[in-house]
Amino acid sequence: MATTKYPPISPGTLVKTTQPNLNLRHQWTDEGWASKKSWVQGKVITHHDSHGLCYDVEHEDGTVGCYDPSEIEAVRETPDLAREERRREAEMVLHHDDSPCTARLNKNGYCPECKFVPDMQSTCFYYYCPACNIPLPSKSMTCTQCNHTFAKPGK
Ligand SMILES: [Zn+2]
Ligand SMILES: [Zn+2]
Repeated sequence: MATTKYPPISPGTLVKTTQPNLNLRHQWTDEGWASKKSWVQGKVITHHDSHGLCYDVEHEDGTVGCYDPSEIEAVRETPDLAREERRREAEMVLHHDDSPCTARLNKNGYCPECKFVPDMQSTCFYYYCPACNIPLPSKSMTCTQCNHTFAKPGK
């Protein structure tokens, strides 16, 4: 066995189906055979290898088909959209809000200036640039350092 990556097509990869491989017809149940579509795009969900390697592919219309590796071609690996999404969102950071103190609280809610844990009424959230770790102007939400505009989380 060669030490190449396994499975060769990882979940999330965009693939294009070709034609059902008739030489392998006897290996499939009627149901499995019927789940295949020719010449459509889909995304690999997972693979099975109990009877030779095959892939579950979710077609664009939401149905799922099972394919032999000879019946699909990888188009491209999908980028981690979730991570990019997260990077565009501002981070919410709790500050002390008890005049004159507006210090940033640590993750336990402790104010390093006043040296105690203020109650919730005396705190407020600031929006932060997650990359630069500095507060964002609440109107523009544009970081003064990297110039990136962020969305308010949960909106
Ligand atoms: Zn304080
Ligand atoms: Zn920034």
